[in-house]
Amino acid sequence: MSNPTVENIVIIGSGPAGYTAAIYAARANLKPVVFEGFQAGGLPGGQLMTTTEVENFPGFPQGITGPELMDRMKAQAERWGAELYTEDVTYVDLSQRPFTVRSDEREVKAHSIIIATGATAKRLGLPSEHQFWSRGISACAICDGATPIFHGAELAVIGAGDSAAEESIYLTKYGSKVNLLVRSEKMRASKAMQDRVLSNPKITVHWNTEVVDVFGNGHMDGVKVRNSKTGEETNLQVKGLFYAIGHSPNTSLFKGQLELDEIGYVVTKHGSPETSVEGVFAAGDVQDHEYRQAITAAGSGCAAALLAERWLSVNG
Ligand code: FAD
Repeated sequence: MSNPTVENIVIIGSGPAGYTAAIYAARANLKPVVFEGFQAGGLPGGQLMTTTEVENFPGFPQGITGPELMDRMKAQAERWGAELYTEDVTYVDLSQRPFTVRSDEREVKAHSIIIATGATAKRLGLPSEHQFWSRGISACAICDGATPIFHGAELAVIGAGDSAAEESIYLTKYGSKVNLLVRSEKMRASKAMQDRVLSNPKITVHWNTEVVDVFGNGHMDGVKVRNSKTGEETNLQVKGLFYAIGHSPNTSLFKGQLELDEIGYVVTKHGSPETSVEGVFAAGDVQDHEYRQAITAAGSGCAAALLAERWLSVNG
């Protein structure tokens, strides 16, 4: 391993939050070091590397593919002098300053850290899930609901919480009908959300319903479901299946070192990227279970870099 040097700022993660933080920190002449990671499909760039068209990122009226958007953010960070390592961080020590960040290839000491390790949408592990991922199956109704193939089509949502309720209601804007597939005989969503779902004439709730698999020819054409009480299997002809079964924040590295909530999201001070450890900031989906969008991740990456710069001017 090379000799540890003390960097101003280490950024962990290369999604919209990490690269935006890198652009701002580099432009502030802080010479940020970015551990990009390569967890999403073996590449840096985060969740958007796994999608095709991104239609809601401002500045691209015709849309842009997820990988191209991330390549542009990366090029912008490099242009301003961010040092990028395509390596996963395997260890951090946040107990004393300078902090320690380690990958298999190197160890870096840093006065401040921005955590932008994102979150991973949970999957069901259906036999044909991989084949129809982004070809009918989606983990984000807000991102993909407006796709033309879903317009006027019958759709389905899996889940039982507030997100499932919200996504079902949202999708009624586009679909002719939305089937909400609930594994048990009750929902976990708030009473108010349940009332909105149950009173919506375009939503049908299927209780005690498990998804067995999806099928189609190129694009998904339907879902095979099983009634867990009767064992009966039926096919629903739907063009889209939206997962609303939760996300796992990528925070195992930080357990016991800073405050995480009960699901594992980094706890930040309201409206600020500050964490429970002074000098450590968090941005993007790793601290956001509400919005989970590229633009909100980028916005919080910007805020984290600006705050880190301010903090370093006093403590660096
Ligand atoms: P992420 O994009 O999750 O990036 C996290 C980064 O951290 C990754 O690079 C990962 O490799 C890295 N990392 C994790 N652990 C480590 C480690 N130990 N060491 C180093 N690096 C690490 N949003 C939109 O606004 N519009 C859309 O159209 C849209 N479509 C989507 C389609 C799909 C299929 C998915 C899954 C999401 C979509 N989203 C969309 C949501 C959007 O991708 C996320 O909100 C956004 O990527 C979050 O950015 P982030 O920077 O917080 O984290």
